[in-house]
Amino acid sequence: MKGYYTNEAILVGVESRSSSPVRIPREKESFQHPQVQGLFPCAEGAGYAGGIVSAAIDGINCANAVLKFQ
Ligand SMILES: Cc1cc2nc3c(=O)[nH]c(=O)nc-3n(C[C@H](O)[C@H](O)[C@H](O)COP(=O)(O)OP(=O)(O)OC[C@H]3O[C@@H](n4cnc5c(N)ncnc54)[C@H](O)[C@@H]3O)c2cc1C
Repeated sequence: MKGYYTNEAILVGVESRSSSPVRIPREKESFQHPQVQGLFPCAEGAGYAGGIVSAAIDGINCANAVLKFQ
């Protein structure tokens, strides 16, 4: 990136994007785990997001699903 990778750079590190290749199953409609009722696999760790915004959006969708579940 212009202005970043220069001889003046003090520290250069590789930003490797590693998102969870593992996905915990969940039902499309209820967002719940198919075998464990009340478990809502959510966002990056569960394999449904790969970034701040997508994690936040998945969090909102799961929260709405929890409200419907109540
Ligand atoms: C170095 C780095 C740079 C990044 N840069 C960007 C960027 O520029 N733009 C971007 O969009 N995304 C970036 N990301 C990705 C972004 O940070 C993640 O996608 C996002 O934070 C995922 O949100 P999350 O809520 O799913 O998970 P997390 O933010 O990982 O939150 C999970 C939380 O669960 C807690 N936890 C874990 N185990 C337990 C337990 N057993 N009990 C209780 N709590 C527990 C953890 O402490 C953590 O607070 C970056 C990630 C890294 C690592």
